[in-house]
Amino acid sequence: MATLPTPLDEAPRLTKMLGGPRILFKRDDNDGFALGGNKARKLEFLIADAMQKGADTIITTGGVQSNHARITAAAAKRYGMRPILVLRGDSSAEYDGNLLLDKLFGAEIRIVAPDMRDTMPIMQDIAEEMRDGGREPYIIPSGGSNPVGAIAYSNAMLEIISQAVEMSVKVDHVVFASGSGGTQGGLLFGAKALNFQGRILGISDGASRDPLASKIVEIANGCARLIDSHVLVSLKDVDFLDQYAGKGYGILQKEVVDAIMTVAGTEGILLDPVYTGKAMWGLMDLIHQGYFEKDETVVFIHTGGTPALFAYRKELVSFLGS
Ligand SMILES: *Cc1c(COP(=O)(O)O)cnc(C)c1O
Repeated sequence: MATLPTPLDEAPRLTKMLGGPRILFKRDDNDGFALGGNKARKLEFLIADAMQKGADTIITTGGVQSNHARITAAAAKRYGMRPILVLRGDSSAEYDGNLLLDKLFGAEIRIVAPDMRDTMPIMQDIAEEMRDGGREPYIIPSGGSNPVGAIAYSNAMLEIISQAVEMSVKVDHVVFASGSGGTQGGLLFGAKALNFQGRILGISDGASRDPLASKIVEIANGCARLIDSHVLVSLKDVDFLDQYAGKGYGILQKEVVDAIMTVAGTEGILLDPVYTGKAMWGLMDLIHQGYFEKDETVVFIHTGGTPALFAYRKELVSFLGS
């Protein structure tokens, strides 16, 4: 599904404006499937697993503007399966951004309360319903974040290392938005298994450090078990910052809009309002605080999410106007 490898591009104007370190963008927003993003990588493995198990129905969950739900809907259709999405949000949510795309992909959508924490029981009920109707359901957890999905990011780590070698670049830090832990877990296992010497730094999309850090470790070690590796990841390997979580998941704030405009205005690259804008706010602030050495190199993984820009147009315009 994904067109790989994605480009690893220099960002010279942004680097210059921020005064170092050297910044490169890993363009996973450009991975070529259903408008792109990190979930396309994970779904290659998850859909393969579903097919191997004879599934004909894919059930997953997320917020109404979930990128994961959008790409899952497309992936299910691509392989002849029926996508059912359990989405947290207002039942009056407008068909815009990812929700509009879910509809265009012909997904069946069930909206649940925005504050419902665990939608797994609902997905299990739907799966039961499906089995009763003679179908074979396959449940994908939130964000596709289990070892099967996350191992795609161990591959992404290999991809980054290979590209850096080709470009004669030594990567000191890999920075990205972290939410359900799959991306970070996969990268961490990959980094350790491949003896990568840099740091892997996840910036929270709103989640707090506990219990996400433990989940990241669990996923990373699950990846190791999947391929019979003896590499062991522990809590001290997890660099996860939640001080940029701001007002919470999906809530836009001025610093995020500033980060989006800075990258758009220097590199012509669009970030998104929920994940990558927040992670870039974190990266820019950490640079100002002297977290990185000026001669170091940071790879910022652009994990996608740009379709959500349109669903946030009112909030974005209100910040632009002030
Ligand atoms: C899901 C998502 C993330 C977070 O990835 P996790 O693997 O859930 O931590 C980051 N950026 C975008 C655009 C996403 O859709």
